[in-house]
Amino acid sequence: MCATCGCGHDHAHAHQEITLEQKVLARNDELAAANRELLAARGIDAINLMSSPGSGKTTLLERTIRELPGPVAVVEGDQETRLDAERIRRTGCPVVQVNTGAGCHLDAAMLRDAVERLAPARDCLLFVENVGNLVCPALFDLGERGRVVVISVTEGTDKPLKYPYMFAAADLVVVNKIDLMPYVDFDLAACREHVASVNPKAELVSLSATRGDNMGAWYEWLRAS
Ligand code: MG
Ligand code: ZN
Repeated sequence: MCATCGCGHDHAHAHQEITLEQKVLARNDELAAANRELLAARGIDAINLMSSPGSGKTTLLERTIRELPGPVAVVEGDQETRLDAERIRRTGCPVVQVNTGAGCHLDAAMLRDAVERLAPARDCLLFVENVGNLVCPALFDLGERGRVVVISVTEGTDKPLKYPYMFAAADLVVVNKIDLMPYVDFDLAACREHVASVNPKAELVSLSATRGDNMGAWYEWLRAS
């Protein structure tokens, strides 16, 4: 459990912990600002990918690395294992794994350490695959240039309403696994309306990272944004 997101704290300490949470987030914002400067100085374009577990972030990255021209590097965040980093490594892309242990999000200090280990090429596109969690990653600025929330059609259409903070923080919402649309009860038009209701500025791209449908719209967003 994560001290900052407040889970597992008893009521008597609630007031004290709000102060601690504000301090932690203020410190994180300072480190994120430093990351943003460092990345900009190296011409590195960092994209923070957030989602619940199983939405297909790693699969989206595997196809993107294969199909996108130009240098790409990846920071993989998970509580445990190097499984996703190994999948990325098999594509030939430079990658480092960050394990957060009991923690449930990446923070700016973790990204700074990961960038130092990875030493990504100048002018590369740096994807940061956050820990699968639609709650506290929304609170932690990493110093990224763009924030992407990935959901899949196997999840509920109402995800944007249930996790409004995450969707409010997104520049782009990717709806993945549209190849499964015939088998599930997912209403893309309703999902689009829900996203707009919590974040009128967010763009939305629906695609299938497994089958390759509509990947061009994702690449176009990466180029244009
Ligand atoms: Mg993954
Ligand atoms: Zn957390």
